[in-house]
Amino acid sequence: MPMLGYGVWQVADAEAETLVAHAIHSGYRSIDTASIYDNERGVGAGVASCGVDRGELFIATKLWNDRHRGDEPSRALDESLERLGMDRVDLYLVHWPSPVVGAYEAAWRSLVAAQADGRATSIGVSNHAIEHLDRITTATGVAPAVNQVELHPYFQQQELRAWHAERGIVTEAWSPLGQGGELLQDPVLVGIAREHGCTPAQVVLAWHRAMGIVAIPKSATPARIVENLASVDVQLTAADVAAIEALDRGAAGRIGPDPSTAQF
Ligand code: NAD
Repeated sequence: MPMLGYGVWQVADAEAETLVAHAIHSGYRSIDTASIYDNERGVGAGVASCGVDRGELFIATKLWNDRHRGDEPSRALDESLERLGMDRVDLYLVHWPSPVVGAYEAAWRSLVAAQADGRATSIGVSNHAIEHLDRITTATGVAPAVNQVELHPYFQQQELRAWHAERGIVTEAWSPLGQGGELLQDPVLVGIAREHGCTPAQVVLAWHRAMGIVAIPKSATPARIVENLASVDVQLTAADVAAIEALDRGAAGRIGPDPSTAQF
């Protein structure tokens, strides 16, 4: 799994083909979409037209919350594959545990079956807290390969990362740039960027890499798509890493919903 991927939440289906092909031409090999993003057709078209072999690419999509029960997860995966124009994905994720739906254990069992039948090379989850991870792993004996969660310098998820590390679960960061808000103006990050002759976004993505966290920044601006990938050339010092670690705001730094209390 590449350490850096291109995330396409809020990329319109009509734009996804061009932007995904641009990202792949720029050097990305990993794309993160979801059925709820409503752009799997555009993503699939971009992959088909980009000229890079499918086997060199890592394509991930996700199961939405209203399809956790019965044979719905299996049907939803077939529908995603049809829209993507693929016979398998590299990674299939349960998008949210959705305790209000109350069937994430059943959803996880279906993903275990989808991996066995080859439609998903690897399977994982997203937005799962320790309690959810514990439950699905205990129930099935199969741990997710990946947990994709909100994670950026203001919300560093130390406890969850340590839990993943003990069990060999890959930590993947969504909204790694804090959705392009206040984070990218933070004086500490701006200062580190100035020292390295790079941008604050590149500092943030270099920090994820230094921490062993997979990141999937989104942009619909071609130059920023390239800029974000070029973060692989930024080498932070131990002092930089320590300064970024001190920016953690704990739960107060969260931008998105808390998976344990989300009402969807
Ligand atoms: P992000 O942190 O990647 O921020 C994206 C925004 O940051 C862009 O819209 C733009 O405004 C800005 N930006 C991007 N590159 C920039 C640059 N170089 N300089 C300045 N500003 C820049 O936020 P995101 O889109 O929420 O998250 C990334 C991806 O994570 C999504 O596209 C999606 O694939 C995934 N995601 C998953 C979940 C989930 O529940 N699993 C939730 C949210 C996002």
